[in-house]
Amino acid sequence: MIAVTVTVGELSARHARLELDGISAAQANAIRRTLIADVPKLAIEDVEFHLGPIRDETTGKDYDSSTSMFDEGVALRLGLLPIPTDLSQFRRKSDCTCDGAGCPHCQVMYSIDRKGPCTVYAKDVVPLGDATLAILEPEVPIVRLGARQALLAYATAVVGTGREHAKWQVAHAVGIYPRPHVRIARKEGCSDACLKRTAASCPVNILDFADGKLSVTDEVKCIDCHACEKTCEHGSIHIEPDEEKFFLRFDTDGSLSAREALRFALKDLRRRLEELREAVQGIP
Ligand SMILES: [Zn+2]
Repeated sequence: MIAVTVTVGELSARHARLELDGISAAQANAIRRTLIADVPKLAIEDVEFHLGPIRDETTGKDYDSSTSMFDEGVALRLGLLPIPTDLSQFRRKSDCTCDGAGCPHCQVMYSIDRKGPCTVYAKDVVPLGDATLAILEPEVPIVRLGARQALLAYATAVVGTGREHAKWQVAHAVGIYPRPHVRIARKEGCSDACLKRTAASCPVNILDFADGKLSVTDEVKCIDCHACEKTCEHGSIHIEPDEEKFFLRFDTDGSLSAREALRFALKDLRRRLEELREAVQGIP
């Protein structure tokens, strides 16, 4: 069995760049798919809009509860706002001890109370209670209010996954790429001058020609552009995908850190395989 090693290029709040050695394309793809579809987070699911006139108690002015957009459009935009999610604190409504009635462990309430003329921003979506659950991108514009227009609404965020709706998708731009492997075998008729030209053709300067020999200095930096392959007309150099080394890259929307998202994805993958193993074991 090949040992799996992970080299971390970056693993920050919103970005991950890793090299995974010793796994197959199928395993890398399973990680990718789990990251996209099965990592849970909070997102706004229900929005209750106040209907009818709204009176400003201090000025006595009346406002229409209407905006420049349909309520459905406003609700969709609210759903896409990233909410910081602590998975040790929140769970799905269906898995909660409240039996889906809604409690502080499975839902978060927000309120919006703005009067025009103004622009309603994400920062106007205020959590009721815990201030650490404030929307992560406060300057995202949601809707514009004209004079005499107002928006008064209550929104409820619940836990879901990208499998149900993209608004619950934590990881974005998830990509796996096989690591390029540079294979050098000098062919007959290939001159020193040709190999020198080949080395010089690399845009990231990882080829070196010295003492009549072409070598790779830092293979991990190869950008898979195949410029060297095209330069040497004798076929002395080939770039081929390494079948057991993969780069994994993804961003998160900030609701979970890249490390949390990856840890959850791997744990979830293991849980599903474990369930499968048990099911297979149960076959008489
Ligand atoms: Zn609950």
